[in-house]
Amino acid sequence: MSEPHVIESQSIEQRRRRVAELTERLASSGHRLTPQRLFILEALVADTSHPTAEELFARVRQTCPTTSLATVYKTLETLRQMGEVLELEFSDGSNHYDALRPAAHPHVICEQCGRIEDVEVDGISRLQAHAMQASGYQLQSHRIEFYGLCQSCQ
Ligand SMILES: [Zn+2]
Repeated sequence: MSEPHVIESQSIEQRRRRVAELTERLASSGHRLTPQRLFILEALVADTSHPTAEELFARVRQTCPTTSLATVYKTLETLRQMGEVLELEFSDGSNHYDALRPAAHPHVICEQCGRIEDVEVDGISRLQAHAMQASGYQLQSHRIEFYGLCQSCQ
């Protein structure tokens, strides 16, 4: 069993593979792969901070100025429907995205600066099994968030 830790950023090789995977998934389901789309995929996979669509847009604009916010939204929505991006909605109306780990996973969130990070926690599937047993629900997913102050805000 490993020590609990905040997940380190992915290697360049992992990111490259993930972009190839997403490109493949989009192409095989008949989506056109415009240069804008490819830049969006690259920015999405490179950004491990769980960016909002607007943050992602700002990032993509640096390398591909012809990208529109609408294209960013459309691409995110397509990937979400395919289960290739995890969308985290918050009550303030902001949606954050994680394309590196599209399956449900726990996050730590800083209430001061808004930073969102992945955190490795053991026993999540056991927790879900308990919840199923206790409720009789057929559970497919979960959303686990821990709130507090990040290391730099403490
Ligand atoms: Zn995440």
